[in-house]
Amino acid sequence: MSVDTSISVDEIRKEFPVLHQQVNGKPLIYFDNAATSQTPECVTNALIHYYQNDNANIHRGIHTLAERATTAFEETRKAAQRFINAGEAEEIIFTKGTTEGINLVAQAYGRKFLKAGDEIIISGMEHHSNIVPWQLLCEQTGANLKVIPVQPSGEILLEDFDRLLTDKTKLVSVVYISNSLGTVNPVAEIIAKAHAAGAVTMVDGAQAAPHHQIDVQALDCDFLAFSGHKMYGPTGVGVLYGKRALLERMDPYQGGGEMIREVTFEKTTYNDIPYKFEAGTPNIADVVAFKAAIEFIEGIGFEFLHQQEMALLQRGKERLYSIDGFTPIGTAAHKTSVISFLIDGVHPFDLGMLLDARGIAVRTGHHCTQPLMDHFQIEGTVRASFAVYNTVEEIDTFAEALSEIVKKFR
Ligand code: PLP
Repeated sequence: MSVDTSISVDEIRKEFPVLHQQVNGKPLIYFDNAATSQTPECVTNALIHYYQNDNANIHRGIHTLAERATTAFEETRKAAQRFINAGEAEEIIFTKGTTEGINLVAQAYGRKFLKAGDEIIISGMEHHSNIVPWQLLCEQTGANLKVIPVQPSGEILLEDFDRLLTDKTKLVSVVYISNSLGTVNPVAEIIAKAHAAGAVTMVDGAQAAPHHQIDVQALDCDFLAFSGHKMYGPTGVGVLYGKRALLERMDPYQGGGEMIREVTFEKTTYNDIPYKFEAGTPNIADVVAFKAAIEFIEGIGFEFLHQQEMALLQRGKERLYSIDGFTPIGTAAHKTSVISFLIDGVHPFDLGMLLDARGIAVRTGHHCTQPLMDHFQIEGTVRASFAVYNTVEEIDTFAEALSEIVKKFR
């Protein structure tokens, strides 16, 4: 597919009122997109429209508003199915984000099917949300956690994965794109190898969803989780994709309304998927508005997104890497629009504060990947992460600001 030449970044930026403000007396430059991206007006309008017109509880009501809310909610499920090319809408479970999706699999799948001595493999660059749920599961079942080591470039090697993969491996869960480094991992190969060894696979797609066309059928992953707020959508909504055959065999994650077929004090039977995993009143408004975010990305197209983000990454490397004392952390050949770095003699936190004083929002710290930071023997980094609405001019302003700040420390 080719890039849509009728789209321009200037036009895209008009859809984001939040970007058009001054912060500390300077035009805002928002480079914290890997933490949370900004939301276009189509998403906030969808939220307002829902509350002003259709607000009602879903699935249970027979009145018109309940029907409208239910239809809108289920339309997002279909949009999410299309977005990741899932085979069926029932394989899409709404969660509050990636974290909840991974915990759901750890508890509803892991607790039922893993036992003492089984092994779970993750990588050394996981977000805490793809580490701690498995540690909890290991404590509960007696399973053991194995970790694919990370190379100095911020990549993992398939040979290292091969060495860990044995007939004891029952589950492999890896991050598609690292939030701290931007590394794009060879998840398709990992999944194929894991399946050949008889293991079930989970992909943390939190950073992939906004940057990459995800095709769960082509990947053949068993589970994949992602979050709305990192892909121009609302906070508090995410998706867990799971293959039907597995979801049906799993126990419910939480008990309550919606997830049941029939309740008696003697025995309760459970609803079909996906409702079996959606206990209680879900985050209806944000799920409804999430559809607008999916359509926003589809409207731009991943070809344009990719082209724009790679241009930003390239410019960032050209302008930043030559700054005095600059050390990039994560130099994988295949990476997304994230530049994590350190400056000799300047603490990342100080850099973050001084950049904020100039209206530039970056993230500093361990980025919820403490084991990865330990591996690099650092406390944290400064992370600039770019989205489709960022411009090369913003990168230039950022580079100039950083150079000036660094000079003051010399
Ligand atoms: N995984 C990765 C790679 C992430 O970047 C994040 C968030 O930063 C998460 C998981 C957790 O996402 P959430 O906080 O939306 O559940």
